[in-house]
Amino acid sequence: MTDTVYMDHNATTTVRPEAASAVCEALALTGNASSVHRHGRLARRLIEDARDEVAALVGASPNDVIFTGCGTEANNLALLGVAVDHRFVSAIEHPSVLQAADGATPLAVDDNGIIDLAALQALLSAASGRSLVSVMLANNETGVIQPVADVVRIAEAHGALVHCDAVQAAGKMAVDMGALGVDLLSLSAHKIGGPQGVGALLVKPGLEIKAQLKGGGQERRLRAGTENVAGIAGFGAAAKAVLAGLEAMAELASWRDLLVTGVRQLTHTRVYGEAVDRLPNTVCLAMPGVPAETQLMAFDLAGVCVSAGSACSSGKIEPSHVLAAMGVNDDEALTAIRVSLGWNSKKADIDRFVDAWGAIFARAGNGQTRAMAG
Ligand code: PLP
Repeated sequence: MTDTVYMDHNATTTVRPEAASAVCEALALTGNASSVHRHGRLARRLIEDARDEVAALVGASPNDVIFTGCGTEANNLALLGVAVDHRFVSAIEHPSVLQAADGATPLAVDDNGIIDLAALQALLSAASGRSLVSVMLANNETGVIQPVADVVRIAEAHGALVHCDAVQAAGKMAVDMGALGVDLLSLSAHKIGGPQGVGALLVKPGLEIKAQLKGGGQERRLRAGTENVAGIAGFGAAAKAVLAGLEAMAELASWRDLLVTGVRQLTHTRVYGEAVDRLPNTVCLAMPGVPAETQLMAFDLAGVCVSAGSACSSGKIEPSHVLAAMGVNDDEALTAIRVSLGWNSKKADIDRFVDAWGAIFARAGNGQTRAMAG
């Protein structure tokens, strides 16, 4: 697939060579990290080294890291494992938060996708007992970055805990758990260049949390099940690599903006969250009048891999709950796609995308592409 332009790094990014090597080396070993013999100790060593690297990525202590089977599991553990009376969850969270927090009070966002802090303050003031607030650091569809430190300030004033899903933010911007002040933070290896099927929940020291998987006493009795040693080793190697590559990720913003400029020379487009801080690699934009489903297939035929700005896990694209929360109507939301760049993206990818955009728009019954107002 050398001729393919991959622009779906928020779904899964390319495994970093360092992570692939670490996985292969770990797979070549035999050993269960719970065994006391030398093979077990070797496996344990790989896990503990990875724990150091994952903690370092987000400025936390290795003792705070609980390895899980994915980001989804980390979010479930955070939402279900902490005993609280009320949960408040931003309306734009990933389904692994929204569904784990069934019955939670939704927190509204404005038309840029930024959480309404005044509403949060009012809700927390009215709540009695212990509350947990869950707000992601960066949105997977739009890349919009949330003012999490402000959320923490408000939550702390009301004695509430804060969980932050940093699955998309990690590796694309600096993340410091201490500076953010959050109590719980979720990560996923395959979003940072590690293998699929590994995640982590970081838990502030002293916070009581209840395991959701019953069984062995792995991960300080907080996550039963034999550890995925190879996956965890790959996660650690990826964490180390992304920390070193953060500056290069920040530079992707100029290519992202070049893409939008190129598109706007051909058609009008609305970029969601354009007025606020976003991840440097992500842009969610609408092709006027052309359903995302049609676009995805046509982009794919042109060798360009992008995704819908909306949920399509069942095969049918539905309007995005994120765009709906931002006040975008369903008809428009169904024309939105997400383009996400990664550590191995090339500048030439932008030209391929823009050329394909122009051809798809013209073919979709719009004749010649034209510069439209707006
Ligand atoms: N949280 C966010 C913001 C995500 O984008 C994703 C994956 O798309 C997840 C959580 C779930 O991570 P995983 O795929 O490791 O279960």
